[in-house]
Amino acid sequence: MKITKDTIATLKLKVADANGRLIEDSKEPAAVLIGGYGNTLPAIEAALEGQEAGFQTTLKLAPENAFGQRDESLLRSIAKKDFPPGVKVGGQLEIRESESGQTQVFNVVKIKGGQVLLDGNHPLAGIGLAVTLKVISVRAASAEEVAHGHAHGDHGHHH
Ligand SMILES: [Zn+2]
Repeated sequence: MKITKDTIATLKLKVADANGRLIEDSKEPAAVLIGGYGNTLPAIEAALEGQEAGFQTTLKLAPENAFGQRDESLLRSIAKKDFPPGVKVGGQLEIRESESGQTQVFNVVKIKGGQVLLDGNHPLAGIGLAVTLKVISVRAASAEEVAHGHAHGDHGHHH
């Protein structure tokens, strides 16, 4: 079966930066609903289109095709006293923007003196990636999976 819209591709993924430094090596395969549901990067979906089980490739992705360029306006510094207790470096915090009303996830980068430094960029923003992927299996998505926008079952989403 070929990978196309509304199929479930079970993938093994290995992600390195442009210098070959390993960022992530998934021990467990991931089941991904294909078709623009935002379950994986559009560049990865484009490479998978029409491929079958056994397909393997390494994609070199520029930051704009991966997690985007860094936006320095997403760096914030907030007084530690305004923070929920238990916030640690490496943790995350959701902040509702007063102007747009949208929530933005910030990573806690540093706590220094009475200030907490936050970064709203994706941790991989601004980084070129080399993504090695292998297709383990392909199957048709169920109507329920399409309605939910993600894969169920083995290596998929559990409710
Ligand atoms: Zn679901």
